[in-house]
Amino acid sequence: MALDATWVRDHIRPIADYPQPGVTFRDITPLLGDAAAFGRAVDDLVTGFHDVEVSRVVGIESRGFILAAPVAYRLRAGFVPVRKAGKLPWAVAREEYELEYGSDKLEIHRDAIHPDEPILIVDDVLATGGTAEATAKLVEALGGRVVGIGVMIELEALGGRAKLANHRVESLTRY
Ligand code: AMP
Repeated sequence: MALDATWVRDHIRPIADYPQPGVTFRDITPLLGDAAAFGRAVDDLVTGFHDVEVSRVVGIESRGFILAAPVAYRLRAGFVPVRKAGKLPWAVAREEYELEYGSDKLEIHRDAIHPDEPILIVDDVLATGGTAEATAKLVEALGGRVVGIGVMIELEALGGRAKLANHRVESLTRY
């Protein structure tokens, strides 16, 4: 999306020094609680990928689920959860990725995506891009094609877009 939706920012609450000093947490709950804003955010994420076919939308735990599920519904696509390690009940593919301090693991059910399916990844915030990159690797490990990564908020200074240079990234608003 070329648009930089300033209206989104009116519904995002910045929380200084959360969850740790120096981090400004972008709290999306005011937007989610506003019927018009929530609907518009979902609509705009859908519009951002109007030109691609999507078989399934992958949502990243946990705030990504909230956006990815209605986007999937609007696209008449399936919804696939990518979860933190140990939460999915069946056989999984796992991807470990680096955090600023330490590492984390994401998992997906092994049968959630079929070879060559076009997949859209959705999350609330793109920061360093590590989470989205790990998710894209999981999709690709199962043979899926990542046709896009859609986020509500992009924190430009953290370089997520550069890390995801091989992918199409659309954000509703950028800080
Ligand atoms: P990253 O892997 O660095 O791109 O971080 C993205 C993930 O962390 C997303 O799932 C976000 O929900 C969360 N996140 C990172 N930074 C923030 C922030 N400043 N405010 C809210 N969520 C964030």
